[in-house]
Amino acid sequence: MSVQLVSLGSGSNGNATLVRVRDTLLLIDAGFSAKIICQRLESIGISPNDLAAILVSHEHSDHVKGVPVMARKFGMPVWLTHGTYRRLKDKNMPVVEHFHPHGSFCIGDAKVTPFPIPHDAAEPCQFIVSDGRRRFAIATDMGCVTPYISELLEGVDALLLEANYDGQMLRNGVYPYALQSRIDGRYGHLSNEQSADLAASIEHPGLQKLFLGHLSENNNTPDSALDSVANRLRRGADDVCVLKRASVSDWFEVV
Ligand SMILES: [Zn+2]
Ligand SMILES: [Zn+2]
Repeated sequence: MSVQLVSLGSGSNGNATLVRVRDTLLLIDAGFSAKIICQRLESIGISPNDLAAILVSHEHSDHVKGVPVMARKFGMPVWLTHGTYRRLKDKNMPVVEHFHPHGSFCIGDAKVTPFPIPHDAAEPCQFIVSDGRRRFAIATDMGCVTPYISELLEGVDALLLEANYDGQMLRNGVYPYALQSRIDGRYGHLSNEQSADLAASIEHPGLQKLFLGHLSENNNTPDSALDSVANRLRRGADDVCVLKRASVSDWFEVV
């Protein structure tokens, strides 16, 4: 078995990641319209009918925009915490499954380990998906890195890590002070520097790929994110890539 993944887009305006473990296809977040998600799935030869489930990290629209429509149209179960469900504006979904942010569960061949993240949402969490051997983790929408998160991410084989903003661009940018404080607060987002700190602390020879995602459109650039993180890694930029905000990445197989 192996874990394969492809980003359908990642940025502060929308996020969706497709993960495949053997025949089980999971969509983690659907933060674009259902139409866009379907188009991007089709572009890589995947039918939305083949999705085993949608996992939702939290209720912000850049993660849930397409979720209810996808669920109604294709009938796949939607997995989310009670807190996230409570805050969803559109709860009309045929099958809803709740999970506890500290409890692992299985969907088909995929083992999913959620973990809570410090973020200004009701009960936000992110996920590690595993085939029982290899582990792929998503870690975005975090105002800071808790000791529990760094411990959990130690030894992962591939990681999609948030590099939301360049500190200088945020401070010198057009956002009002209150919004700047929300973004760089303990329940906001990770800066390139914070992302670099975390990446450097968990780097190990078995880390096959580091994807940088959830970049801010106004307060970051792909070059700044890549430079900040790659400069701190022993291996440099070879195994680091910045995900595009509005297009599909290549498939990556965690072997
Ligand atoms: Zn969020
Ligand atoms: Zn987000």
